[in-house]
Amino acid sequence: MPSYVIVEKCDGCKGQDKTACMYICPNDLMVLDKERMKAYNRDPQMCWECMCCVKICPQQAMDVRGYADFMPLGGSATPLRGSEDIMWTVKFRDGSIKRFKFPTRTTPEGSADPLAGFATHDDINSNALATEPASLKLDAVPTI
Ligand code: SF4
Ligand code: SF4
Repeated sequence: MPSYVIVEKCDGCKGQDKTACMYICPNDLMVLDKERMKAYNRDPQMCWECMCCVKICPQQAMDVRGYADFMPLGGSATPLRGSEDIMWTVKFRDGSIKRFKFPTRTTPEGSADPLAGFATHDDINSNALATEPASLKLDAVPTI
C-alpha cells in the first residue's frame, strides 16, 4: 500500500529545492509539482511503505494505507515526529485510540560523533572502511 499525499495539507515544503519527502525517500519516489506546489509519489508500485516520508513531513501531509493484517479496515497508525521520539497514534477499528512514544535516539540532537573519535583514511582504492583499521583495533586490515 504505497504512500500518498494529502494535497490539502501539502505546502510543497515552501518551494525548497528538495522537499523533506524527496530528501528522505530511499527509493527516490517523491517529486514536487512546482506549478501546483504539491508533492506526489511518482511510482507507487516501487514504494515499500517504509513510512519515512510520513514521519518526516512537517505538515503531516503524507500517509500510508495500511495492509489489512496490520491495520484492519477503519484502523490507522499515524506517526508524529519529534526531535527525540515519534509519537504514534493508533486508531483501532472500534474507534478506540492509543498513543505511545517511541524513542528515536540515545544522544542529544547534534551531539553524535559519527566517527567516534577515529581518524579517517583518504585512500579511495582501499577496501577498508573510513575508520579502519583503527576502529577494528588492528594495525592493518586483514587480507586473504
Ligand atoms: Fe508536501 Fe510534506 Fe512532501 Fe513537504 S514533505 S512536499 S509538505 S508532502
Ligand atoms: Fe518512499 Fe518510504 Fe515514502 Fe514509500 S513510504 S514514498 S518508499 S519514503
